[in-house]
Amino acid sequence: MMKPLKRVVIGTRNEGKLSELIGLLGSSGVELLGLSSFEGIPEIPEDGSTFKENASNKASAYARLTGNWALADDSGLVVPALGGRPGVFSARFAGEDASDAENTAKLLKEMRDLVGESRSACFVCEMAVAAPSGDVVFRSEGRCDGTIAHKPSGINGFGYDPVFVPEGFSETFGELSEKVKSGISHRSAAASKIADFFVGITGQPT
Ligand code: IMP
Repeated sequence: MMKPLKRVVIGTRNEGKLSELIGLLGSSGVELLGLSSFEGIPEIPEDGSTFKENASNKASAYARLTGNWALADDSGLVVPALGGRPGVFSARFAGEDASDAENTAKLLKEMRDLVGESRSACFVCEMAVAAPSGDVVFRSEGRCDGTIAHKPSGINGFGYDPVFVPEGFSETFGELSEKVKSGISHRSAAASKIADFFVGITGQPT
């Protein structure tokens, strides 16, 4: 018989991401643990060609390795005028160990001749939930549409936040508060569908 859904391992060692997800999913009736609560769990590489593949591979592997339910995500920036890049390469767009500033500089350089509609972009977040057997039983996608500014502004957030202007705003995520960002972000959109899934099983209201 399948282990009941009481405890879920979040497939990340990033404490910032863990606490953000605990904030978004904490009232859905499950106990959430990070990978640092387990010993000897290897890093699962994000070497798939889609966000969905990476999220599913990670959720499935962490579930099997820990013997628990597991949730994993993969996210990034998609620019249609660049053929969907940086996409799954968002974290390493300017090279394997590139900094956020280097990735952003490369993005702005590649987009320097683009104006208007061609500067459209979206952040995408894919999440996957796997049962202890490793079977992926639920997936969700969240996206946040916007445009890429011509230069960086603001110091809030991380990654491409200083050049991403979400739809309906004139400031970048680097300038907007964390509260505003979390209300409209790709990650919170994906997480709210996961919370609904957990509540559907545990019966706990959010
Ligand atoms: P991951 O999902 O942690 O692998 O994130 C991949 C990369 O996508 C990050 O290193 C960032 O470059 C970019 N990214 C994902 N979400 C955001 C966001 O909310 N703001 C800015 N950049 C992001």
